[in-house]
This record gives sequence, structure tokens and C-alpha cells, in this order.
Amino acid sequence: MPQSRPVRLTEYNSYRVAARAERCHFPATTAELAALLAEPAPGGIHLLGHGNNIILSRPYYDAEHLFVCTRRLDTSLTVDGTRLSAGTGARLRDLCRAAARAGLSGLETLWDIPGSVGGAAVMNAGAYGTSFYDVVETVEAFFPAEGIIRSLSRTECRPGYRTAIFADGKAVILGARLGLRPDDPARILAAMGRVGKLRRSRLPYDLPSAGSVFRRPEGAPPVGVIMEEAGLKGFRIGGARISRRHGGFIVNAGGATGADILAVVEVMREAARRRYGVELKLEQVVI
Ligand SMILES: Cc1cc2nc3c(=O)[nH]c(=O)nc-3n(C[C@H](O)[C@H](O)[C@H](O)COP(=O)(O)OP(=O)(O)OC[C@H]3O[C@@H](n4cnc5c(N)ncnc54)[C@H](O)[C@@H]3O)c2cc1C
Repeated sequence: MPQSRPVRLTEYNSYRVAARAERCHFPATTAELAALLAEPAPGGIHLLGHGNNIILSRPYYDAEHLFVCTRRLDTSLTVDGTRLSAGTGARLRDLCRAAARAGLSGLETLWDIPGSVGGAAVMNAGAYGTSFYDVVETVEAFFPAEGIIRSLSRTECRPGYRTAIFADGKAVILGARLGLRPDDPARILAAMGRVGKLRRSRLPYDLPSAGSVFRRPEGAPPVGVIMEEAGLKGFRIGGARISRRHGGFIVNAGGATGADILAVVEVMREAARRRYGVELKLEQVVI
């Protein structure tokens, strides 16, 4: 069992917010993971995949908090016929590339979404009307309370819009098996290329962010449109700014803290309340 050590979390959150944790581990095996999760953590156990959908609200997490990062747990990608099995730590981008190389279609619209397979399974990551669970057959997860590993069918994972059963943090995703369709690799790569181009033209990939801040509101226009109407694109508190390119994103324009980001979140919420009477719900996870 590796010793606890203080870790700078800056490189493990895509906002690049500067933060430090007294206890952060990168388990390499399931046995190590199980032992870690049995450790006391009165401040909470914080699971991290690749950190592309989280807001670190504090600059310092003392030893009461335990960060467990699954990026090194299992990064394998295995093709078997039309099935692709992926370890939790594998990058979603590598998964899409592996599928394309094997001539397997179904992941093209998820191309260029940052993050891990584990994170995609928790968040049901998606874009352009499709999402991760569209192609999931099973998800394997460790349930620390029972000390067991279970393989759950897609239905048992209860996928919804940017959510699944794992959102409560009570299980650790170990991997997923996907069922894909055979197709021409050149056609798949061309489709991914189009998606990549579209994303890069619309989303602020040039500055650190964590994607869409909020879930899509019901009964109101998309968040980006609301912010544009409210004249809030480019609005800034400290280092956190509502993206000029996409009003649904907050970017770190330099030295943003978690408090800066959360203050901008409140301004966006208030704008949506005032203009449309809707209560915006965070998609990003606050730690
Ligand atoms: C530029 C940019 C564009 C983006 N575009 C999109 C998009 O188009 N569509 C979209 O859906 N998302 C998008 N996102 C958000 C993000 O990429 C996804 O939510 C992604 O699935 C997060 O994966 P992650 O590994 O980084 O998860 P993290 O941010 O590390 O974690 C997210 C949640 O999952 C939990 N978690 C992570 N790993 C595990 C695990 N192994 N077991 C159990 N729980 C775990 C965490 O505790 C947390 O609650 C974007 C982000 C950025 C920065």
C-alpha cells in the first residue's frame, strides 16, 4: 500500500485551479483500491477520473479528505469482434480512436470529449444527441460497502441525461464493455474529423474549463443563449470568466480559484432566474 502523500491537484482538474490535498492516491490495482476505500475519511472520499467535470471549491483539503484518482487503475482497451472493453482509466479519446482503427462505429459523436471511461460512465457523457450508454452493454463496478465487484447491464446502470446510478459516489467504476457496429474505418475517422472540427469551432478549447457548467434547462433556451441575451459573455470574477466563445462554459482566464468559479456560477444562476424563472442545475461536480 503506497503511503499517503500531499499532492498538488492543479494538474488533476481541467480548470487548472491550484489546490493541494494532504491525502491523494492513484491505486493501480483493485486490491489497492479496496484497501484505500476502507481508510477513514471523515471529510469524504472524493473519486476522481481525469478531473474534467469537477470544481475544486477549496485551495486545501486536509487529511480528513481522501482523494482517490482512478486514472492509473486500468487503462486497457481490448477489441473482441464487435465488442470493445475498456478499463476505467482509459481516455475516452483513446477509446474512440481504438474503435475507429478496429472498424467499429458508434462512438463518433463522443469524439474529443475529454475524460476517462469511468467519468463517462458516471456522467453519461454525450454530445449531438448521443451519449455513452447508447453503446454500453455492461459496466463493472466495485461496491465498497459490500466489498464486491458487480457487472451491471445498461438498464441496471439507469442512464439518464448526464447521469447514471453511479452519481451517488457509492461505487467505483472499473471498466465498461461496449457493443459497436462494423463499418469502414475511413468513414468512421471522417465522421470523427467532422465532429472534432465542429467542437473546436464552437467550444473554448483554448482555455482551461470543465465543459458545460449546467445541465440543459427545461422550458428555457440553452444556457449559452441565456448568457448571451443577458450580456454576460466575457463577464469575469477574479480569474473565472464566462467564455466569450460559448456562454455555457466558465474558463480559467488566469489564476482562477474555486471560489471565483462558484461566484460566477451564482451570477449565471441569477441571470437565468431573472430572465426565464428557471433554476439552473450544475452538471459539474463541486468538491
Ligand atoms: C473542453 C471540455 C469539453 C467538454 N465537453 C463535453 C461534452 O461535450 N459532453 C459531456 O458530456 N461532457 C463534456 N465535458 C465534461 C467531461 O469531459 C465529461 O463529464 C467526462 O465524462 C468527465 O470524465 P472525467 O474522467 O474527467 O471525470 P471526473 O471529472 O474526474 O469525474 C466526474 C464525476 O465522476 C466521478 N468519477 C470519475 N471517475 C470515477 C470512477 N472510476 N468511479 C466512480 N466515479 C468516478 C467523480 O467522482 C465525479 O463525480 C467537457 C469537458 C471539457 C473540459
